[in-house]
Amino acid sequence: MTALRPEVADFDRDGRSEEDRTASEGTGLVQLHESIAALLASRGQWRQAYQHLRSAFDLVYADQDEQPHVPEQLRREVDRLRREHAEAREQSLRDSLTDSYNRRYLDERLLGMVTDRGATADGLAIALIDLDWFKQVNDTFGHLLGDRVLQRVVELLQEELPEDGFCARYGGEEFVLVLPGVDAAGSVEIAESARMRVERHAWASLAPGLRVTVSIGLAYEPPAGDSPTRPQVAPEQQLLRADSLLYTAKQSGRNAVAYREGGRVRLAGAAAGRRGIAEPRVAGY
Ligand code: GH3
Ligand code: MG
Ligand code: MG
Repeated sequence: MTALRPEVADFDRDGRSEEDRTASEGTGLVQLHESIAALLASRGQWRQAYQHLRSAFDLVYADQDEQPHVPEQLRREVDRLRREHAEAREQSLRDSLTDSYNRRYLDERLLGMVTDRGATADGLAIALIDLDWFKQVNDTFGHLLGDRVLQRVVELLQEELPEDGFCARYGGEEFVLVLPGVDAAGSVEIAESARMRVERHAWASLAPGLRVTVSIGLAYEPPAGDSPTRPQVAPEQQLLRADSLLYTAKQSGRNAVAYREGGRVRLAGAAAGRRGIAEPRVAGY
């Protein structure tokens, strides 16, 4: 009799073994995770829904060595959630008016570049762009047209970006072009042709008499290998330099790209001949 005791003790009052109980608790937990996932998905909380589905998956297949057979419906559901999660994330990184990337995306990418930069042999240019006299555009043509101008400007800025380059709305009527993998002269060329595209665009087709130009501050950082003794500049610092050069472009007559070459501040293209190029707002920047 006593020899049977341990086995008897493994069964509960309903006659279920320990194994059965664990299995049924596991199934209950899987169902709970699935229900929570469905509820969260119906509220559009894709990330959390996806995490619950993953937990359900892990519970079901935790003890199995071989490739699990995934029920078709569950597979489709997970695929759908994954897709929707990716779309939702992409949307959260876009500016709703212009569809360019937003400040959050810019911050994330620049942060990534701080860590990557030591490892890459590429230079990095950051251009800060501000529409000229944009308040007047709004005042004269209305805010709605102003919005359309911002959308059009983004389209123009985004043409001819280098691989991995991108445009982000910095705020209001200011945008940033991040240009990785270019050299100093190449970055001036890209910024200057972006400026010219805006200047030469057929704005009058949006509203008779409309003219739009931009001023650009361009800060370039060479590859780490080019000047091993010089400390690498963090992208936020570089953005500050671009801002200071943008001030120079504004003070020097607007509709121009200001950049630094050999320690001197210059204006690109035709604007180079202008007299009285203003000093940057922050000395040395
Ligand atoms: P400056 O050449 O010195 O940059 O002059 P500005 O008039 O462009 O600069 P200011 O800072 O005085 O005005 C910026 C204007 O940009 C004011 C603001 O209403 C407008 N603006 C900012 N965001 C938006 C937007 O999303 N849509 C519209 N239509 N206007 C915007
Ligand atoms: Mg501004
Ligand atoms: Mg402006």
